[in-house]
Amino acid sequence: MRTYYLRSFGCQMNEHDAERIRALLEAEGLERADQPDSADVLVYNTCTVRKSADERLAGHLGTAARLKREDAGRIVLVTGCLPQAEQDAFFRRFPFVDGALGPQNLHRLPELLAAAVEAAQPGGRPPGFFADGPLMSGDLTARRERPYQAWVQIMSGCTNFCSYCIVPQVRGPERSRGLDTIVSEVRGLVADGVREVTLLGQNVNAYGLDQRRRGRGGAADFPALLRALDAVSGLARVRFMTSHPKDLSHGLIRALAELPSVCEHVHLPAQAGSDRVLAAMNRGYTAAAYLERVHALRAAVPDVSVTTDLIAGFPGESEDDFAQTLELMRAAAFDAAFTFVFSPRRGTAAAELPGQVAAEVKRERVERLIVLAQELALGSRRRWVGRRAEVLVEGPSRDGKGLRGRTRQNVTANVSGAIEPGAIVEIEVTGATSTTLRGRA
Ligand code: SF4
Repeated sequence: MRTYYLRSFGCQMNEHDAERIRALLEAEGLERADQPDSADVLVYNTCTVRKSADERLAGHLGTAARLKREDAGRIVLVTGCLPQAEQDAFFRRFPFVDGALGPQNLHRLPELLAAAVEAAQPGGRPPGFFADGPLMSGDLTARRERPYQAWVQIMSGCTNFCSYCIVPQVRGPERSRGLDTIVSEVRGLVADGVREVTLLGQNVNAYGLDQRRRGRGGAADFPALLRALDAVSGLARVRFMTSHPKDLSHGLIRALAELPSVCEHVHLPAQAGSDRVLAAMNRGYTAAAYLERVHALRAAVPDVSVTTDLIAGFPGESEDDFAQTLELMRAAAFDAAFTFVFSPRRGTAAAELPGQVAAEVKRERVERLIVLAQELALGSRRRWVGRRAEVLVEGPSRDGKGLRGRTRQNVTANVSGAIEPGAIVEIEVTGATSTTLRGRA
């Protein structure tokens, strides 16, 4: 096996897992192939958070099946949340797959490859590694895709059990990495030229809680971790995602207000605006409590950008419930919102709930979410025109005419001026759309 092709789907955590998969395979001597038909090993790193993710993957696996028929020696491996959720059923659904493993077993990828090659002999049984593992993939080396930015996993798993979510089943319980381990990893990244790190976890606000629950009373909480990272010399920016509103503490808001390197952006999924629906989702807060957190954040952190996730068509959602979601959007004045139709996931409580909403109603509601989200985002971007914003320049803009970067509010900015990628510059904002700013250094 000389070359590998990797296709990854889903969230930032999966993007980071993809960087680790690259490092693991290249440490085995494999080289990257850009197209599946020129690779000996095909790897698909999967997401199963919504039906659409499964459907997208099925298309790619169709190609893998064809390439496997053309060359029986080719190896097809699948990693991530889908095989973890389905296990044996996954192999019955995709019998040409030579091996699979879940997110907690990423470190066993080389072992999986060797076992898959062996099992690919006639009569062999494809290996599947799905057991809960002690080692956290956060400790694995990553082959980073971006020179000046890096993902840093601070914890894995989730114990919130929102009724629509499959993550606790596929990524296991919350586990935090040690503060010293994270700080030394970040020091290494800064020495390697990284200017901005994004801390990753399903619910970063609960960082350290699992350790404190296990009797390690002195274990640091999230604000303490941010303060330790703010002290890392040469680190310009710290971002984090994702935050659960019920754990957005005063200590965290103070850290955001006080620490120069912590960027003024919080991704705070609301999911819905009706207390009845929030309770059925098992979100653990009311719309009023959510808004109180947003207002406290905006009062303490000028220019903070608050973005969110919203679900349309949760089982039992009435037109009045939905109207309350639109109301919450206006009251929170979201700077950006990611909108989804409810997608029943096997094994979640919400999939069994009565009152499943008709597909056309879900679609019609999500379109209304999108229209309002764009209106609010455009208003938010336009407030920057004529002002100055700090931008980390990432590289050439999509149209190739200038440069492209990201503000501290996590907004994409197209920048003109003679600047090197990796530089952090002040721009004069001269224009805005609902997704980007334009400006000159
Ligand atoms: S907080 Fe809820 S939605 Fe987020 S990962 Fe955990 S269970 Fe899923």
